[in-house]
Amino acid sequence: MTQKYTSDLALFINGVWRSGEGRETRPVLNPALGAGIADLPVATAADLEEALAAAEQGFKAWRAVDVDTRAGILRKAADLLRERAETIAVLLTTEQGKPKAEALGEVMGSASMFDFYAEEAKRAYGRVLVRPTGQRAMVIKQPVGPVAVFTPWNFPVYMLAKKLAPALAAGCSVIAKPAEECPASTSALIRCLADAGVPANVAQMVYGDPDFISRTLIASPVIRKVSFTGSTAVGKHLMRLAADGVKRITMELGGHAPVLVFDDVDLARVLDVLVPQKFRNAGQVCVSPTRFYVQEGIYDAFLKGFAERTAALKVGNGLEAGVQMGPLANPRRPAALAGLIGDAAARGGKLLVGGEAYGDGFFFQPTLIADVPNDAEIMNTEPFGPVAVTRPFVTLDDAIGEANRLPFGLAAFAFTNNLRTANLAGDAIEAGMVGINSFAISVADAPFGGVKHSGFGSEGGSEGLDSYMVTKAIHQA
Ligand code: NAD
Repeated sequence: MTQKYTSDLALFINGVWRSGEGRETRPVLNPALGAGIADLPVATAADLEEALAAAEQGFKAWRAVDVDTRAGILRKAADLLRERAETIAVLLTTEQGKPKAEALGEVMGSASMFDFYAEEAKRAYGRVLVRPTGQRAMVIKQPVGPVAVFTPWNFPVYMLAKKLAPALAAGCSVIAKPAEECPASTSALIRCLADAGVPANVAQMVYGDPDFISRTLIASPVIRKVSFTGSTAVGKHLMRLAADGVKRITMELGGHAPVLVFDDVDLARVLDVLVPQKFRNAGQVCVSPTRFYVQEGIYDAFLKGFAERTAALKVGNGLEAGVQMGPLANPRRPAALAGLIGDAAARGGKLLVGGEAYGDGFFFQPTLIADVPNDAEIMNTEPFGPVAVTRPFVTLDDAIGEANRLPFGLAAFAFTNNLRTANLAGDAIEAGMVGINSFAISVADAPFGGVKHSGFGSEGGSEGLDSYMVTKAIHQA
């Protein structure tokens, strides 16, 4: 199976697709083959300067476009994404590795972001404050200004849509630096926006050296807001850069999601949900269930059922029919996982299934490790891969203590049929999102974001729109 791109990769600056012209390039890999499939042009300092100047002009014009017109353009972009979903999904699987069905779901979810924010932008209400006769005070919301967004390789299209949709709906212009690993699918999204009528200088896209691009964009006075999804380490670095210019930020950073399974559940039904979720996108999901805490009475049965289902997963090239898990997205991940698994085993964790990298691409076996002690690195560092780690617990308080033990607080999950347990777990777990008997926590109309080291601010819902707006009070005597 040859899996090369059919179109050239390019930057999109001020409405012009720019490739060659003497720019350096960096290779793009197909993770199922472990081989290069395309060359991506790298943005120069002059490219970034031009993009910044265009974004400044674009913002002035776009903020003045009435909200119905902006909404119509965003709805059109959503329609184009759906029309082109099949083609975009193949590009996404080819450069990222996830099964094509997951890639299609990602594109459809991205379209729903544009639909949601096309409508939500109309509800950026202000308020009028009561004052003596003839006087009033108004509170209004205005778009923050040109925005720099940085998005990762695990959901390259959806993460970009999650930032572009609210930013454009709010009236901001955007310079996006999507992940260099997955440029064809993200370019396809930008093309949908351009074809839908987003003006040339309003949604731009650059790739290259992440550090150079983020330093340059964040330092520019043109940029008023920075939004990043990725690791906590890079997020902290970007927060420091943003602090110099007192820029607003949204930071969607790492997690290490606990899953509490109580002994009152229908275990087979719960396992049928847990195992596919654990291995979705080969575990490279910021809200992936990672630390499984299981009440002691059902712990052995849980391990047996989890192991059987894990061993039965079909792993392979995501473009092949029936494949349930693809390769890891880049060569950094198998190496990182091997280190974490080796450490867990050395500290007494029991490797029940998997544990090995294999094949020409970046494949890794779905893995289950039981009884992993808290001092193992994998209990403290997000594995970001197809590895489940388990420990038994006795009481609800023990389980909550384990869930809240880490400095992260992105997603958490609890499975129980007891309403009181569900309520207590929902209240006590320190996380931005808690799924009770559900993994459906990333949707357009609900806020998504972390607490503690998992980040700052929310995407999705009305909060997502708010994060691209500033509040102004106008007092009139
Ligand atoms: P990394 O920390 O090098 O990069 C994480 C992301 O940040 C990538 O998309 C990268 O392009 C971007 N990035 C890196 N340096 C940057 C800079 N100076 N300016 C702007 N962007 C920059 O690590 P990685 O090997 O790509 O991934 C490793 C870890 O990152 C994972 O284990 C996971 O914890 C985390 N991660 C989280 C998410 C998420 O959705 N929250 C997504 C991808 C990676």
